[in-house]
Amino acid sequence: MFVESTRHVESYYARTLPGEAPERPALAGDCDADVLIVGAGFSGLHTALRLALAGRRVVVVEASRVAWAASGRNGGQALLGWSCDMGPLEQSLGLEGARELWDSMRWAAREVRELPARHGFDIDYRPGSLWTAVKRNRIALLEEARDEAARKWCYDALRVIAEQEMPEWVGSPRYLAALYDPEAGHLNPLKLALGIAAVIERAGGRIFEQTRVQQWRETPTGFVATTPQGQIRAGTLVLACNAYIDRLDRELARRVLPVGTYQVASAPLDPQLAHTLLPRNSCVIDNQFVPDYFRLSPDHRLLFGGACTYLGGIPKDIRAAIRPSLERVYPQLRGVELEYAWGGHIDISIRRTPDVGHARGRYWLQGFSGHGVLPTLAAARAVSDAILGDTRLLSLYEAIHNPRFPGGDALAAPLEALGKFWYRMRDVV
Ligand SMILES: Cc1cc2nc3c(=O)[nH]c(=O)nc-3n(C[C@H](O)[C@H](O)[C@H](O)COP(=O)(O)OP(=O)(O)OC[C@H]3O[C@@H](n4cnc5c(N)ncnc54)[C@H](O)[C@@H]3O)c2cc1C
Repeated sequence: MFVESTRHVESYYARTLPGEAPERPALAGDCDADVLIVGAGFSGLHTALRLALAGRRVVVVEASRVAWAASGRNGGQALLGWSCDMGPLEQSLGLEGARELWDSMRWAAREVRELPARHGFDIDYRPGSLWTAVKRNRIALLEEARDEAARKWCYDALRVIAEQEMPEWVGSPRYLAALYDPEAGHLNPLKLALGIAAVIERAGGRIFEQTRVQQWRETPTGFVATTPQGQIRAGTLVLACNAYIDRLDRELARRVLPVGTYQVASAPLDPQLAHTLLPRNSCVIDNQFVPDYFRLSPDHRLLFGGACTYLGGIPKDIRAAIRPSLERVYPQLRGVELEYAWGGHIDISIRRTPDVGHARGRYWLQGFSGHGVLPTLAAARAVSDAILGDTRLLSLYEAIHNPRFPGGDALAAPLEALGKFWYRMRDVV
């Protein structure tokens, strides 16, 4: 699966950038690097940034444009934790190991708040997230999550918002309670990715766009990667290809399933109306099995997403697919103009656990399962630390069991679709 493109998709993010995203040249000829990173999404860029700042000669190659895929199109919700929640991580790593990973997630949340200012760019960061309950029988989950975070992960920042307080937080009749996280927040992901790319280059790293790695092979001194117009020789190889890994590494591809997901941005709303939708400007994700998630942009649009497609691609009419969910949350926005609609792909692992590891000088980061704004940064720290000689964090990721999808390519998607159907049914009851 791949659509190489010279342009970012027609998203709210790409269309409202101040100016065009800078174009980088394709690789023409051969080059050498200490570390070759394939994929200029958050996973590749964060890894490259840390290595370039540490003085390594870094080359990043991107088949399309910097942050052309999920990293430049996502909901912008910088939420602490992983798609799988902490249970599978604690099972694999024990309490101490899981706590260490959790601490690295808090580090990622802090880093995303501080890194842009440190390097002189802006990502429209706003603090605060709400995990909301739609059903009365799921309010207890919020309290359990707060208590577990304090008890197991020493994280006591979470606060339960009771039903009577909810109108001060979300102007929707749909939600009965919420869990507020002040260390989470929301941001413009394309600005973040482009900002990091510029810092990588200032630190001496090189980024080639329109350069798909077609294949790679091991050599006695490292790796050689082939692209349409040149080869790259590097001591270390990092694969950060997300849902597009299939053509490049069959073994990694067996552990993730590409899944389509999509979202919309309304036209700018009257600022007072926007304020009534989210009075504290937090981002929101509900605690249904198939969640709706949304937030406001700085120019008072509602950015709203939720659904996934397992068997097909992205729906032809994304606006029509999302509108019923949006109007269920905000009946007062019935008929609102949806100015932008776009889709993207996420890489679901079978247990929704991150799949981050290494073998003989080749590193990979994948399996973020639709929740990757902060997890990619936490994982990039583990990989870059390991390349620089400190393997402690990476060894935790490597202790997480990431099975292959059963049945190979033919069965994986139908089985996932069946699983998702079951979860949808659970949302109904
Ligand atoms: C619509 C949508 C909404 C989302 N919302 C959220 C959210 O609100 N919060 C959250 O935490 N997460 C969210 N996510 C998930 C999050 O965006 C991803 O987990 C994260 O961006 C993954 O980053 P990545 O670098 O691993 O992958 P990507 O951003 O997909 O980057 C991979 C890159 O590798 C390149 N590539 C692949 N193969 C090759 C090759 N052979 N040669 C050269 N280049 C190659 C691709 O072109 C691509 O640019 C969302 C995702 C989508 C699609």
